[in-house]
Amino acid sequence: MKFIRIAGLYIFIASVVLFSATLFMGNYSLTETSIEQTFSDKKARVTETFAKVAKENGVLDKTYSNPFSFMSDVKGLFEKHNQQVSKDIAKEKGISSEETEKLIAAATKNGNVVYTKEVVDQVLSGEKAKTLDQSTNWMYSPGKTYDSVETFQNDLTNKVNDANRNLAKEFFLYDNKYSRFDITKAASSGIIVENKGLFLFLTFGLGIIGSLMFIITGLFLKPIPGIKNNGIYLNNATNRGWVGIVVFGFLVIFYVLLYFHPYVIVNWTSIVDPVKALFIENGSASQWFVYGLLYTVSMTVMAIRMFIKYRHNQYQIVRTAVVLAFQIIFAFLLVEILPLFDLPGVDLKNAWPLDYNFLTDWNVKNYLEAGHLGKFMFFWGIILSLILVPVLVYFYGKRWYCSWVCGCGGLAETLGDPYRQLSDKRLIAWKIERWTIYPVLVFAVIMTIIVGYNTYYVINAPDIAAANQNEFFGINAYRINEWYGFLIGSIFAGVIGTGFYPLLGNRTWCRFGCPLAAYMGIIQRFKSKFRITTNGGQCISCGNCSTYCEQGIDVRAYAQKGQNIVRSSCVGCGICSAVCPRGVLKLENASDDGATRHKVPEVILGNDMDLFEMLEENK
Ligand code: SF4
Ligand code: SF4
Repeated sequence: MKFIRIAGLYIFIASVVLFSATLFMGNYSLTETSIEQTFSDKKARVTETFAKVAKENGVLDKTYSNPFSFMSDVKGLFEKHNQQVSKDIAKEKGISSEETEKLIAAATKNGNVVYTKEVVDQVLSGEKAKTLDQSTNWMYSPGKTYDSVETFQNDLTNKVNDANRNLAKEFFLYDNKYSRFDITKAASSGIIVENKGLFLFLTFGLGIIGSLMFIITGLFLKPIPGIKNNGIYLNNATNRGWVGIVVFGFLVIFYVLLYFHPYVIVNWTSIVDPVKALFIENGSASQWFVYGLLYTVSMTVMAIRMFIKYRHNQYQIVRTAVVLAFQIIFAFLLVEILPLFDLPGVDLKNAWPLDYNFLTDWNVKNYLEAGHLGKFMFFWGIILSLILVPVLVYFYGKRWYCSWVCGCGGLAETLGDPYRQLSDKRLIAWKIERWTIYPVLVFAVIMTIIVGYNTYYVINAPDIAAANQNEFFGINAYRINEWYGFLIGSIFAGVIGTGFYPLLGNRTWCRFGCPLAAYMGIIQRFKSKFRITTNGGQCISCGNCSTYCEQGIDVRAYAQKGQNIVRSSCVGCGICSAVCPRGVLKLENASDDGATRHKVPEVILGNDMDLFEMLEENK
């Protein structure tokens, strides 16, 4: 059995090494076909000009052995394409350099500049005169004066260039992570693209088989049910040792590539194309599909580990099964299936403010343009965040979401379970937690107000939105949403939240950053039936509960005092109760009896006990 376990470990490691190595396999070549494929939804002029520019710069049909060298040559082509297309359009219907010179000559008399509408009409006619009038009427004399002819010449030339660029705007291409990804994927070829099914088996398939061999043998090697965390602080993988640091490095690099440089991981998307094809014929997987699949597979495999590890504990088995089902059905399958019915592919259990894009104009439009069901989904989002979340937190505490429904929580409770003991239990960590999580909530609320205000006008009165420049109190709605997405959505929730599992524990994001956890935490702390009751007299102060509390709550301190645990950060995972050897802790939804819910009992340990007095009082 031990042999199978070790073989499983090696198979899993081999699959991860191969998965990483695939990034450096295959070739990348920008051909006319790959350009057409990338810009298939754009006008013919775009593909023609881009191909022409690529050819002139020696990039067309050139073969690269990795995405980095490919992109270092291709990224400059976007701007060159825009310049070329502006030049071509200017020649066809724009203002030429000869006409610009004539304008300057007509506006300059004896070294003085007199630029007026008459000058424009004298040199140009029709659309050209109209375009220039619109973009330069603020330069007309006598309102505007010039120090020298050169100043006027520069201003006018710049404006003419701008006007010409505007005419060509519909053919422009923008250099961003999405266009880089699309063009790299279309340009990729070679061993991965030609053997997608084989690599899917060698990476995902063997990874699953190896992990299951490692996990399931645990049933036979540790046949007696019960939690065995033996040696957890002596293991390099779980005590911030070198294995943990390697996993940390892998996760951080993975998230950085996923969020900021997806073009590097096009081979991973090619590997999972056959899975995407199950939803859409010949579908091409995006980086988000790879992420969703990897997320769901990791959760499923590690949920099996949870079922085995906690097989004596019904709460843990049911909770793990439910959170896994929510991930598979809501966060993965429905997100892929809904768009097949022209509905927005959204995760219906993702509540605001965790879903920080909920009120963005594009998201609301997606809902409203998707018929009655789309509108229903929009109202479902509002009801979920504003009614269901607080009501269910009142009855069950925030555990109903954090430990039973949420995707972030689901990953933390499965993939992150081996790291739960790494959460910081010091008071300073508790302080930092309060100084980070509530400001994130405030940031989320302010951002949502600004974005919601803008969305209202974009949808109902686009002219007013444009006149406001999409601003509210001087803050641009798109910019603040972008910054929130970058700082909180990508860096905090992704890179730090999951990347730091092996160093800071599995609930770093839920504890220090999640605005939804903060929102629910306030309700849980002040108005909820949920508490963990403690039978203090039974506590032997072993500290298991505090050690395995992923939220860094010093559970033992409460147990020693026989005090109920009513903490806003408690996600109700139940592990403290599961690891307690004395049955001290119980997660309960009792009646909401106000102050007594978090009252400290006077006597539990007996240190200050006056037995005679108690006898007299018949306690
Ligand atoms: S106190 Fe217990 S139930 Fe709450 S988060 Fe910590 S381990 Fe989980
Ligand atoms: S695990 Fe149980 S016995 Fe040990 S310190 Fe916590 S409450 Fe006390």
